[in-house]
Amino acid sequence: MELPFAESYKIKMVEPIRRSTRQEREQWIQAAKYNLFNLRSDQVFIDLLTDSGTGAMSDRQWSAIMLGDESYAGASSYFNLKNAIKNILGFDYVMPTHQGRAAENVLFSVLVKEGDYIPGNSHFDTTKGHIEFRRAHAVDCTIDEAADTELIHPFKGNVDPQKLDDFLKQHADKVPFVIVTITNNTAGGQPVSMQNLRQVREICNRYGKLLVFDSARFAENAYFIKTREDGYADKSIKEIVREMFSHADAMTMSSKKDAIVNIGGFIAMRNQELWRQCSKFNIMFEGYVTYGGMSGRDMNALAVGLDEGTEFDYLETRIKQVEYLGRRLDEFGIPYQKPAGGHAIFVDANKVLPNIPREQFRAQTLAIELYLEAGVRGVEIGTLLADRDPETRENRYPKLELLRLAIPRRTYTNNHMDVVAVALKNVFDRRQQITKGLEIVWEAPIMRHFTVELRPCR
Ligand SMILES: *Cc1c(COP(=O)(O)O)cnc(C)c1O
Repeated sequence: MELPFAESYKIKMVEPIRRSTRQEREQWIQAAKYNLFNLRSDQVFIDLLTDSGTGAMSDRQWSAIMLGDESYAGASSYFNLKNAIKNILGFDYVMPTHQGRAAENVLFSVLVKEGDYIPGNSHFDTTKGHIEFRRAHAVDCTIDEAADTELIHPFKGNVDPQKLDDFLKQHADKVPFVIVTITNNTAGGQPVSMQNLRQVREICNRYGKLLVFDSARFAENAYFIKTREDGYADKSIKEIVREMFSHADAMTMSSKKDAIVNIGGFIAMRNQELWRQCSKFNIMFEGYVTYGGMSGRDMNALAVGLDEGTEFDYLETRIKQVEYLGRRLDEFGIPYQKPAGGHAIFVDANKVLPNIPREQFRAQTLAIELYLEAGVRGVEIGTLLADRDPETRENRYPKLELLRLAIPRRTYTNNHMDVVAVALKNVFDRRQQITKGLEIVWEAPIMRHFTVELRPCR
């Protein structure tokens, strides 16, 4: 008999979590105004709000924390980080920042000006925010296949080379760089193929443009290249990672994702002049260039996390857990963005709750039902998140209405995944009885989903 798959680690430290009663959860969610961000973490049993900064560090990372050098300038921890980035990602010039959006803020302060266009695949919210804040425009050139949740495609995160080329043909003079997000978070944690990265590089070369990778989940992307793309099965993850980044001029990183730390980020690049220009903004916004808002111990843990996060066994454990949850949902016929992404399952709320009018927030209604059922916290990626049109103040209705269940790294077991799957099945089985959604009582003018207050429709 073939041996079953099992995790590539054992557990040395635990943190208790508590189940609650449905009655308690009904009170808590009412007090939280039906906004899951307002819950206290001890009111949640299984927390799938985000995989950002919520992973478990290893014994090696915790021991590196004890060796942190807190010198203001030139700390050994900085050199540990710089060496790890050079060895694993291949960049000579490095600048630590306190998290991913800070890396965007510093790099874009140098590269983006009013009226510019930044094409790529789907931009992450904060990336788009930092572009639009500078009165420039994010141009999404993702392949059309990404918008069809039932369609199976191995690299649904890809840039459409034709769309990118057409855009550059028209507007090359207003494009400072092209940005590719690996994996494509907004499209459901979907990977980008090596062939696609190569094509984008060729297009950038043709137009003389810099290519930047938004790299939060680069290691998960490398795992998908190894397991899905011809010619990569026998290469190590670290070899694939080196090849991926050989196509980039610079990268921004949220280390809270694939570097498996609770806080941190960085920018890396090949060009010394760009590094010099960034250093001015880094010193203003983040801190001196050898710490950039991070403590020495956190840089040490990050250096180790980059190494562990690019090991095949770790990645296989991680991605098989996400797939496991997907397979349980398949058993119950629950629709989600397929194939399962690297870090999360995105449940298709338009298909689960079609009886709820769109203006009553289908995905948020599903998220609340799942919380009431089992104390599981996910997050709405739908109409609430999409905000109102700035001109008409009408709700914007995105193509997809999704409930994202993001899986923290090395944190939960497959028993927890079973609870999530069965809780969703119970909600799914009574979907015909769920006919009323939610209405807004109060909302902020932008980014309303964080603080919105809701109540059930009568
Ligand atoms: C999380 C994330 C960011 C922003 O990083 P923070 O560390 O949350 O500031 C940027 N891009 C992508 C793709 C991300 O997933």
